[in-house]
Amino acid sequence: MQETLLKLIKLPLVLSVIAVLSSCNPKDSKWKGQGPLEVVNTQTRPVEFQLKSTFNVGNSIFCSNEFDGARLNGVALTGPGELTVLITPENTPINSSPWYAFKIWSASPQNIKLKLTYNDGVSHRYYPKLSKDGKNWRPVDSNFYSVDSISLAKGEDPKFCVMYLALNSDTLWIAAQEMIVSKDINQWAEQLAKKPFVEFSELGKSKEGRSIGILRIGDEGSKKAVMILSRQHPPEVTGWLAMKAFVERVCAEDELSNTFLSEYKVYVVPCVNPDGVDKGHWRHSAAGIDLNRDWENFNQPETQHIRKFMQVKVLKGDTFYSAIDFHSTFEDIYYTMAPDVKGNMPGLIPKVIEAMAKDIPGYGPNIRPDEADAVKINSTASIFHAFHAEAMTYEVGDDTPRDLIKTKGELTAKNLMELMLKKD
Ligand SMILES: [Zn+2]
Repeated sequence: MQETLLKLIKLPLVLSVIAVLSSCNPKDSKWKGQGPLEVVNTQTRPVEFQLKSTFNVGNSIFCSNEFDGARLNGVALTGPGELTVLITPENTPINSSPWYAFKIWSASPQNIKLKLTYNDGVSHRYYPKLSKDGKNWRPVDSNFYSVDSISLAKGEDPKFCVMYLALNSDTLWIAAQEMIVSKDINQWAEQLAKKPFVEFSELGKSKEGRSIGILRIGDEGSKKAVMILSRQHPPEVTGWLAMKAFVERVCAEDELSNTFLSEYKVYVVPCVNPDGVDKGHWRHSAAGIDLNRDWENFNQPETQHIRKFMQVKVLKGDTFYSAIDFHSTFEDIYYTMAPDVKGNMPGLIPKVIEAMAKDIPGYGPNIRPDEADAVKINSTASIFHAFHAEAMTYEVGDDTPRDLIKTKGELTAKNLMELMLKKD
């Protein structure tokens, strides 16, 4: 055993993670999505705190999780030039979306093998991204990356991955996806709010007191509204990127955008769960809850704020015609309402998806409509049933090319605006 082995935090041995996503999705299905939603208790549960520090691992190597969005639960030298990192979730049971983000450097230049491991029952999911500044990211070179081949040979998902890295005194950031934390999101929203027809204000506070912002795009006096949500689930950065492209297209100030905004206003909550995002959570809020299962009982402040906001608007005479909640999963999927239920603009969402797909040659969208008897515990089902807004959960694949995410986000906005302006 090495002298330098550090035990940073006691391992949550009693916790075992239920890999909901993978267990619900047989390997032979055409594409991977989630199984039917199940009602869960959304009252506050304890969250395990991450010890935040700069860790002197030994051999002149240092690791840090002292930044927003970081997740690094343990690190040790486990062999000559070999470092093992442990990543664990905020609490369990939890969806298998093991987010990680940390900084690493070495006082003297050296090559290392870095093994990324998780608690029992969890599979490696996110292809590692590297950055020198925490802003610009690139995927780790595939020549210097491998996954657990023993599990793969057994037909199972890999339990760990290995990266070969050249360290020096410059900080190297390693993360599951591009890091976009609440501060970045607020800066983006503030920048957008420089346009005369955009306003950014506080919707309310999160469980830990972080500000949850809301953008209003278009004239407040308009009575026709659209609701856009993102980042209920912290690691779902690709969904956020699609939301960003969507919103920027709405604000493009071309003829379509101007005409649309003369009739409609768009509300955007770009970061529903800032606590989870900044704490580097896999899935939950600071209350240890999957917020996207709290839209029936509204036990948490984040969902309460949005519901109240929409209720007040409706009381003042507004009508919500559509709502999109942006998420990420293994592949691009559109979860829509059951085909026979009708809201304030029947048929809108399927038409938007169809028109968007026509704009991208060769693209066939995965559309999964709700069952008619589906539970109403997530945002889109709840918003549809409470406010009759035509709603969908817009899932973006973890590895969907970033330029395609942008194109699809923009085309979704373009087609939504065109179809909402069309008078039948
Ligand atoms: Zn999600």
